[in-house]
Amino acid sequence: MSDEYDVELTEEHKMLRDMVRKFAEKEIAPVVEKDEKEHRFQRELVNKMAELGLFGCPIPEEYGGNGMGYLAHALVTEEIGRASGSLRVAFNMQTMGTALSIFKWGSEEIKKKYIPALMSAEMIGCFGITEPDAASDTAAMTTTAIKDGNEYVVNGRKMWITWSPVADMCVLFAMTDKKAKHKGMSAFVMDMRSPGVTAIEIKDKLGLWACPTGEIIMEDVRIPTGNLLGEEGKGFGYLMQELISTRLTAAAGAVGTCQAAVDESIKYANERNQFGQPIAQYQMVQEVIARMVAETEAARALVWRCAIQKDRGLVNNMRETVIAKYYACKAADEVPNLGLEVLSAYGYSNEYPIARILRDGKVYKILEGATNIMKMIIATDALGIKKANR
Ligand SMILES: Cc1cc2nc3c(=O)[nH]c(=O)nc-3n(C[C@H](O)[C@H](O)[C@H](O)COP(=O)(O)OP(=O)(O)OC[C@H]3O[C@@H](n4cnc5c(N)ncnc54)[C@H](O)[C@@H]3O)c2cc1C
Repeated sequence: MSDEYDVELTEEHKMLRDMVRKFAEKEIAPVVEKDEKEHRFQRELVNKMAELGLFGCPIPEEYGGNGMGYLAHALVTEEIGRASGSLRVAFNMQTMGTALSIFKWGSEEIKKKYIPALMSAEMIGCFGITEPDAASDTAAMTTTAIKDGNEYVVNGRKMWITWSPVADMCVLFAMTDKKAKHKGMSAFVMDMRSPGVTAIEIKDKLGLWACPTGEIIMEDVRIPTGNLLGEEGKGFGYLMQELISTRLTAAAGAVGTCQAAVDESIKYANERNQFGQPIAQYQMVQEVIARMVAETEAARALVWRCAIQKDRGLVNNMRETVIAKYYACKAADEVPNLGLEVLSAYGYSNEYPIARILRDGKVYKILEGATNIMKMIIATDALGIKKANR
């Protein structure tokens, strides 16, 4: 990467990126392998990221953000994702899936209560959409929120919720009118310490070992009506809009994963000697490196296009967000695989980071919408069946 050729970035963007890169190299890189092996969630590092103001790029200063915008958010997310897939999730849990949703749809009271606390990491956030039997088909969710005086009574179960075992609050989607299907969905802010909320960690997963993920069981949980986001019954529309934001973050994190794989592979190719010279001299190794670099840069270009559009006010750019998400997340699966070809046997050992990068890269094709769903949105838009940008 050459700084002067990054023509899309302002000097401010470059300074921010350099600052975050230095932070990640100094604070995250030395502990990442140990934290992953020990499945240790680093709350202290989340606090440090908050102290540096990293969560606040798309949030106005008035609510504790810095208003630097979406491209700044993508740059920060990539740099943290490059160092740790587990810590990358913070940019959806503190910002896009929580603070930004509350900023868009919350009452003034709710905004003041939650957004600054998320920005400073005084509160840890999560968002609950997926259920055991309602995943890609979000409108099939069965968690209910039934109005009872000044409160909603919530019953149901959420599955695969990032940070739920450590979270203080949750942006929760539930059915206020089950019969109305997607028109009966609403969004709430739920206090995770409320009576009736139980979060159970899913401990044995393929990757992201330092990132607690869990189920949320809700039994007669009472949420004040003031914690309803926007209007009752409009939750499905809000969910789609929230996903347009969270998918940008996932795509930016995926680029970080790709870049980490590129870095490790280049280093190794130059250091590893076989047949009397570095393997970097062999054309077949160069071919692999070329593909890794090109895939990473292509993914980054799509992420930046999407973020720049949002910075120009085109925040509902579903089409471009989904294209970036599809491409970058596919690359986060493929580029570390290519890295394993370069590192070969040593890459198969946990002595080198490529094994962790490969494991963590797998998740991007699943979360914030599986790859098939991205392809479906791209194709139905292209075929004129359903316009993605509305
Ligand atoms: C580590 C991790 C963290 C997560 N964090 C969160 C979180 O914080 N909050 C949250 O709400 N959710 C979270 N999720 C859930 C995630 O968003 C879902 O896993 C995702 O939406 C897809 O659901 P599924 O994996 O159950 O797949 P399913 O929906 O069961 O689909 C299975 C397969 O069928 C395909 N498929 C489904 N429908 C179609 C169709 N119509 N056409 C073609 N193919 C189709 C899918 O592409 C997929 O390949 C997380 C998941 C993981 C693994």
